Amino acid sequence: MAQCPICDGTVDENNPPAQGQYGGETQYFCSVEHRSEFEERHVQD
Ligand SMILES: [Zn+2]
Repeated sequence: MAQCPICDGTVDENNPPAQGQYGGETQYFCSVEHRSEFEERHVQD
C-alpha cells in the first residue's frame, strides 16, 4: 500500500483515487482533494 502524503492514510496504488508525478516520483493520494492540497504546497515551495 502507498501512503497519502497529506493525511498519512493508506492508498491502494493499483487503484488510487488520485495520483501525480512530482520530481520524477509518483505520489498516491487518498482523494483528489488531497492531491490539490499537495500541489498547492508544492507550488508554494
Ligand atoms: Zn489524504
